[in-house]
Amino acid sequence: MNDCLFCKIVAGIIPSHKIFENDRVFAFLDIGPVSPGHTLVITKAHAENLAANTVEDACALMVAIHDLALKITQAVGAQGYNLGMNHGVAAGQDVLHTHLHIMPRQEGVAREFKKTHPSQEELAKVAEMIRVQLNSAN
Ligand code: 5GP
Ligand code: ZN
Repeated sequence: MNDCLFCKIVAGIIPSHKIFENDRVFAFLDIGPVSPGHTLVITKAHAENLAANTVEDACALMVAIHDLALKITQAVGAQGYNLGMNHGVAAGQDVLHTHLHIMPRQEGVAREFKKTHPSQEELAKVAEMIRVQLNSAN
């Protein structure tokens, strides 16, 4: 096991509020959400950034976004979402393992990119709401 934070999350060594996984992709709540439901979608295979991923994993990431983003948004009562990827330290990438941010947005609420610090209980509640929505939509 390498020393990568997100690899440890995929392996369950570091706990997370998981909302989805398949053979290539893993999705969990961001610990410092800029909005309720802020989700990170990552490739299970370690790659420092998208350019280093296989094309198959890059496609799997986008398929997961296609399947998840609107359902996550609806689960938290939002109407739209921002997608974000910081590619490279120069762009603000802190965790060097490919991840896409899904940031649900409510009409009339300022689109801040400031981190918030919800409790584990609050995050668990949001994750459960999202999982219920994903399961009911299947
Ligand atoms: P980046 O700046 O690399 O695009 O985003 C990394 C994200 O990972 C940040 O939004 C940060 O809040 C999130 N993050 C950092 N450490 C953890 C952690 O231990 N657990 C979870 N769930 N998210 C984390
Ligand atoms: Zn990794």
